[in-house]
Amino acid sequence: MSGQIDNDVDVEVLVIGAGVVGIYALYRALDAGFSARTLEAGDGVGGVWYWNRYPQARFDSESYTYGYIFSKELFDEWRWKEEFATQPEIESYLNFVVDRFDLRQHISTGQKVVSAVYDEEANVWVVTTEAGDVVRARWVISATGGLSVPHYPEIDGLEDFQGEAHHTGAWPHTPLDFTGKRVAIIGNGPSGAQLLPAIVDVVEQVDLYQRTPTWTTPLNNADMTDERHQWLSENWETVTTTLNTSPSGFLHDPAGKFSTADDAEQRQAFYETMWKAPGFGKLTMNYYDMTTNREVNLEFCEFLANKIRSIVQDPVTAERLIPKDHLFGAKRPPFVSNYFESFNKPNASLIALRETPIVRVDATGIETTEKHRDYDIIVYATGFDFGTGALTRMGIKGREGLDLSTDWEDGPFDFGGFSAHLMPNFFFPGGPHGAGGGNYPRYSQDQVDWITETIVYAREHGYDVFEPTEEQQGAWMTMIDTLAPLSIFSAEHSHYYGANVEGKPRKFLLNPGGRGKLHEMLDEMSSTDNYGGAMRKVAENVLV
Ligand code: NAP
Repeated sequence: MSGQIDNDVDVEVLVIGAGVVGIYALYRALDAGFSARTLEAGDGVGGVWYWNRYPQARFDSESYTYGYIFSKELFDEWRWKEEFATQPEIESYLNFVVDRFDLRQHISTGQKVVSAVYDEEANVWVVTTEAGDVVRARWVISATGGLSVPHYPEIDGLEDFQGEAHHTGAWPHTPLDFTGKRVAIIGNGPSGAQLLPAIVDVVEQVDLYQRTPTWTTPLNNADMTDERHQWLSENWETVTTTLNTSPSGFLHDPAGKFSTADDAEQRQAFYETMWKAPGFGKLTMNYYDMTTNREVNLEFCEFLANKIRSIVQDPVTAERLIPKDHLFGAKRPPFVSNYFESFNKPNASLIALRETPIVRVDATGIETTEKHRDYDIIVYATGFDFGTGALTRMGIKGREGLDLSTDWEDGPFDFGGFSAHLMPNFFFPGGPHGAGGGNYPRYSQDQVDWITETIVYAREHGYDVFEPTEEQQGAWMTMIDTLAPLSIFSAEHSHYYGANVEGKPRKFLLNPGGRGKLHEMLDEMSSTDNYGGAMRKVAENVLV
């Protein structure tokens, strides 16, 4: 056996996916002087913002905190129209970034990856696309996203429906005309909740099929004013420092107090300010103990329940819309304006699936235990195979026979939420255990920055393999398993535990230690000479 480093690679860094994370990973790899290329399954860039093009799909993180913050020039050149931008604007922005930094020539679209196999002897990943193209790469960054594989419900007769049927996460490019149509929306997470008010005024009838009610609160969107843009530009350094270091990755000012600082009347007044707070502010600006003190959370839930009762005119519908089985934040709450108001329209109905479950879908519509309803369009707003969905479907085979699809059957094992033992030189920023429940792109940016610095370190120090040791991965997984029970998310209800996918193991799929733990453990690894044994030279690895 040669023991020689095989330099017969097509590209040093191969990025899979041209969404928010993949575009940044490509930019960083090229900027660091690597040859780099991206394979993207869609026919355009944007990732989730390419596929989720249903009416009124939009950010519920502020546009300028979700967008890239590595370049002030980019911020100054792009003008967001709204605090929370819609999908068309987001897709335009991502295309603007790709052209602004001359990335398009490195991106191949319409190239879905179907296998990624590690050739241990050559220390090369052999990546194959559906079209049969093969790319050999030393480093792979799979930015394939946590919300990229649509989940369809297991309902009899799905294929029999003769009308239009679409998942929100795989929306057609030709805009769907809802005018005068009879529409069913199955699912009331952020996607279903955004769609309902967007179409209620043009359809003949829309029925929202709800399994579990959600603590939906208003988005409180606003136009992006010149003054706001200018303020952000003038305070860029402070703004980016906050976004780069705050646990949530938002610009929100926390309340700075525990619930005990206020009496009962003051708390009600405070909850009113929360109701009016922008997007995720209801979580990030709330009392410190909102997510840890059950009594306080229940009090806030009662405040929200009364809001729902005050908005929805039909008391039976209002009660059906009020969650009874989980706290605020135990499921990822939708932040959507005019959701509850939509149920006051004469052409909108709520179908409570816990009372009248779906029996089957057939050629003309949906049959529940109550009755059959005819539809022209059925929308599946039924979410995604979160966290592991894309990676376990990509034919990933690592060292010593590791086959990710079977090795992760009982849940993912990883280090840092972006790498794994037995998967040398393979990174998956934004993957399982990636985000800590805050603003996703800020967490993924941290990961991509660390990954880039790691492969630069390898280049500078003559290493050509990065692979977390069993011990390093074990320490990370112990942190995940120890802290997960302390998080507010419900194993029974949240897709962060895989609870929305039938048969998926209930394993926590976020990083419960948040940004603090992520940086602590990454710093610990990268501050040692060879990353604590995670760096190797291939010659040492393959010589016999
Ligand atoms: P989701 O939050 O997982 O919601 C899926 C919905 O479908 C739930 O209401 C679920 O009910 C229902 N459902 C699933 N299977 C069902 C079945 N067999 N029968 C009936 N109902 C079923 O999915 P999502 O709304 O697409 O949101 C997913 C994530 O995407 C969000 O957490 C967020 O991170 C992101 N997102 C963000 C925005 C934004 O505003 N920026 C917009 C959309 C999505 P149960 O609750 O009972 O499981």
